[in-house]
Amino acid sequence: MTLKFTGNMTYKKCELCPRECGADRTVSHGFCLGGACANVTRAAKHFWEEPVISGKNGSGTIFFSGCTMRCVYCQNSEISRDISGRNVSDEELCEIILSLQNDGAENINLVNPVHFAPSIKNALLAAKPSIPVVWNSGGWERVETLREMEGLIDIYLPDFKYFSDEKALKYSGIGDYAQTAANAINEMFRQVGDVVIENGLMKKGVIVRHLVLPSMSVQSVKALRFMRENLPDGVWVSLMGQYIPAGDVSSENFPEINRKITIKEYNTVLREFRNLGFDGFCQELSSASEDFVPVLKD
Ligand code: SF4
Repeated sequence: MTLKFTGNMTYKKCELCPRECGADRTVSHGFCLGGACANVTRAAKHFWEEPVISGKNGSGTIFFSGCTMRCVYCQNSEISRDISGRNVSDEELCEIILSLQNDGAENINLVNPVHFAPSIKNALLAAKPSIPVVWNSGGWERVETLREMEGLIDIYLPDFKYFSDEKALKYSGIGDYAQTAANAINEMFRQVGDVVIENGLMKKGVIVRHLVLPSMSVQSVKALRFMRENLPDGVWVSLMGQYIPAGDVSSENFPEINRKITIKEYNTVLREFRNLGFDGFCQELSSASEDFVPVLKD
């Protein structure tokens, strides 16, 4: 089987992400470090997503190397700042998808997929998985690239990281984050619509993840208000509090985020999350467990 690129995406003069760096990835690599085929670090069933994603049998997770962003606190910096995995052809990616499906995975979970969208599209068109496909991304994405994936993705799981573009630049090396992410998430919702859950498993819809950072509970409150005003009601939100310092974070260069968040900081954000009436999930940091707890409107 030989797969050919379909649609308008290309690695030749790459503009897949909002960085639009124009790299010719057939001879070199772009800012994201991606070349002309997908690079997979790990493919296995994963049990630590929201319960509606992990289910009983685990989410069939495919971790891609490289990244379009440079978050200083990246929890996966050894994967995101290097092409540390295995180069796979589109045919091999198709086989990985089918093998996760045959292994009983609840879904195919594409982690950090944006910079390999053309390969993923080819592999999905060939694999035609019978289980839901999850696009698990950072939210800083181009609508044009997302449109190319229409009909192939069932569940969108983007981050919404920042309200302030100044913080986005400081901590992730990107500009115009909030509005770019809002445009992307609106496109995601246009494609898949409201959340559908059957027998405790998500079949389609959009869940936006927001990770609360230390010293930034006010920023998180603003981010939630921005989401409420700029995203459709049918988008769910997952509020996350499990930040730990990682990547480049140290007491020398980013002291303000070189710690876990406090329960007080988290509860400030949690209160706003509930006040704004989001459907979704939150983590209860005040309990012994940090598992996801469903939050649903009546
Ligand atoms: S996906 Fe990579 S190569 Fe393409 S525009 Fe973004 S950073 Fe550049």
